[in-house]
Amino acid sequence: MNLAALTKDLTDLFLPRGCLGCRDRIPPEEGDGLVCPRCLTLLRPPPSPRCLRCDAPFGTGRPKGAPCMECAGWPEVLVSARAAVVLEPPADALVYALKYDGWRALGGLMGGRMARVCPGDLADPLIVPVPTTPGRQRTRGYNQALVLAETVAEELGEEVSEVLSRPRGRTQVALGPSERRVNVEESFVAVRDPGSRIRGRAVILIDDVLTTGATALSATAALAGEGASSVHLLTFARALPFGGPRRRTAGVS
Ligand SMILES: [Zn+2]
Ligand SMILES: [Zn+2]
Repeated sequence: MNLAALTKDLTDLFLPRGCLGCRDRIPPEEGDGLVCPRCLTLLRPPPSPRCLRCDAPFGTGRPKGAPCMECAGWPEVLVSARAAVVLEPPADALVYALKYDGWRALGGLMGGRMARVCPGDLADPLIVPVPTTPGRQRTRGYNQALVLAETVAEELGEEVSEVLSRPRGRTQVALGPSERRVNVEESFVAVRDPGSRIRGRAVILIDDVLTTGATALSATAALAGEGASSVHLLTFARALPFGGPRRRTAGVS
């Protein structure tokens, strides 16, 4: 055994690589060392039949021709929402690892999956990440939506445009009962650079997860206010609107 192989074996022994999806040890010869092959096969797209506009799976017993309740209240400018996978294990663990545990390297895998379901018929789209709050940016050091947007942009041969921001100083207001409370400060998004590149452009709005849609709707309103011709939300994962398994991931929005 040569020295390099010995060093590698020792590294694997003392630093066993756990899959970020399931924590199982990944055999050194398999995969990229972040996610095990089994977890990769468990990442699944939203099941069909689903809403052509927002990708929400239709439940059984839905009357034929009935409108989708998930996107019925969305503004017209928010033309579509696409998600690479359903927010369920192991996708929720990957979202958490990217968002809270510093696993920026997951951006390649997750953003690559997103690029596959990105609308391909948009002329000269503006690729815009949903901004994170200043506090989270400080503690984490990066915006997970930007990390994903960079991979999507690279796959499409485009560039990322960080035209949105999360202003500080908004009063915290809890809306409505239940765990689905939306914090206004958390969801409020503004245009960083008014009068800029947005007017007349189709925007691909990038975020890690679609759950309540509050942040995406706030960002859409900001983009529409600057004249975006259409907004197409693209997320890595989508919470199932009904009947889905309970999520383990806390604090995603
Ligand atoms: Zn795994
Ligand atoms: Zn819908």
